[in-house]
Amino acid sequence: MLDAAVIGAGHNGLVAAAYLARAGLSVEVFERRDVVGGACVTEELWPGVRASPGAYTLSLLLTRVIDELELARHGLRVDVHDPYLFAPLPDGRRVVTWSDPARTHRQIENDWTRADAHAYREWSSTRERAAARARPLMLEPSRERWLEAVGPALLEGSIADELSAIPSEEVRVPLAIQGLIGTLAGPEDPGTSFVSLYHELGEATGRPGAWGYARGGMGAVTAALRSAAEEAGAGVRTGAAVEAVTGENGRARGLVLDGGREVAARAVLSGADPLTTARLAGTEPPAGWRQQGPVVKVMVLLDGLPDFPAWPGLEPWRGTVDIGFSLADLTAAADDARAGRPAAHPWIEAACQTAVDETLAPPDRHVLSLFCQCFPPGADAELAADAAIARFAEVCPGLSDRVVDRLALGPRELEQRFGIAGGHIFHGEMLPGQLFEARPGPRRYGGLEGLYLAGSGAHPGGAVTGAPGLLAARAVIEDLADGALGPG
Ligand SMILES: Cc1cc2nc3c(=O)[nH]c(=O)nc-3n(C[C@H](O)[C@H](O)[C@H](O)COP(=O)(O)OP(=O)(O)OC[C@H]3O[C@@H](n4cnc5c(N)ncnc54)[C@H](O)[C@@H]3O)c2cc1C
Repeated sequence: MLDAAVIGAGHNGLVAAAYLARAGLSVEVFERRDVVGGACVTEELWPGVRASPGAYTLSLLLTRVIDELELARHGLRVDVHDPYLFAPLPDGRRVVTWSDPARTHRQIENDWTRADAHAYREWSSTRERAAARARPLMLEPSRERWLEAVGPALLEGSIADELSAIPSEEVRVPLAIQGLIGTLAGPEDPGTSFVSLYHELGEATGRPGAWGYARGGMGAVTAALRSAAEEAGAGVRTGAAVEAVTGENGRARGLVLDGGREVAARAVLSGADPLTTARLAGTEPPAGWRQQGPVVKVMVLLDGLPDFPAWPGLEPWRGTVDIGFSLADLTAAADDARAGRPAAHPWIEAACQTAVDETLAPPDRHVLSLFCQCFPPGADAELAADAAIARFAEVCPGLSDRVVDRLALGPRELEQRFGIAGGHIFHGEMLPGQLFEARPGPRRYGGLEGLYLAGSGAHPGGAVTGAPGLLAARAVIEDLADGALGPG
């Protein structure tokens, strides 16, 4: 009998396995796909061209996970991407921010007005102080502690209100987009301030709040985690779909794999999302749990990088490119999806890692990743890709001539590819009512003793953090030490 069986080799499942194995426990991970990584993966999408079809940039992976699991020794290298963001406008103006707020202040003063630059500085320094207080709480699910650290406006306010002191709306728009990532919400909606703050809590690049690229794509993160887990003694099986969690008398006892093989384990950890985990365990997910994703991800193969009239040359391609022209467009995109329509004007966060990482593709090939919102369940991914490429071309007219091929992943395709029910990038909305202790777990998921939720459905939520995996591993280690899970 194993001490622990882990469902899914997403980054959280691998983090959990690594910590459990390092604690001397016998652990095996069972992954349905032939590749590890879940939504944190690099795949060869075209011959000789590798890219990250899920997560594309890294910041939130806990530094303690990076250090304790020695991920650098296992091959992980992360470089800050600058610009932090570039938001071109159809009339040739642009908003540019950098990972260094002082540089952003100078840039905004130069491109916009002194009043915009000053208001930005006020906003970003208040933000940075709140982020510094919140960072130690990534492993702490208490809403009270978060409230104490950052106050009610940042937890439950809207990003539009938070940015209202910045005079030029064009400057506010790309900053507002950071509060909408992955979330079916418009900038006026409660909780969007928190989504934005959450995206500033990372330090994985070595610079607080900055985002960066893992060399070799996001799969480099999960390759390093797998290597750390295996070195510590964990087994990682791919092509091993779990069909059910077995249990009796309200206790999880192990797994049944596709094909019928049974695996007995004292503890079962699930890195799968809350709805999938409940289905496998034959239990109920949390009442009213919202896990329908509004994202379409389009991977576009290009034979070169066209110029943006707002900023010609290679430099703007090095960071993320944010496209959304007004707050009203952002609001309308969410309203469209809520009414069951694809957004007429989707907003986009684009990234092109091949512009800075020559390990991913030959010199005459680039991959442009378009993270697009907002779309309803069942959205036609191909039509969404057409709309997104047309929107991008409004600020980059040469784009269409460079497109060689594309892969469009709507909520349905994200669900099929990554095994996340509803295709929600965070395994469930990260809005008020689904944060902190309102997120399930890690212990007794669905009321089953010995079943631990180790994926992004648990605190602190989605993104590549490693925190849910670490929290679940800790809970299992404590429970085994207390004898709560019976003899080995
Ligand atoms: C399009 C997209 C873009 C994103 N962009 C970013 C970004 O840039 N930066 C960032 O930090 N985050 C980003 N995210 C969010 C981030 O990728 C996820 O929150 C995170 O990767 C989830 O990790 P996880 O380990 O919790 O779960 P997952 O990665 O979902 O892993 C769960 C694993 O369980 C497996 N599984 C499911 N069911 C079974 C079963 N029955 N048997 C066996 N295995 C099973 C799945 O195949 C999967 O490998 C993005 C996500 C998506 C989808």
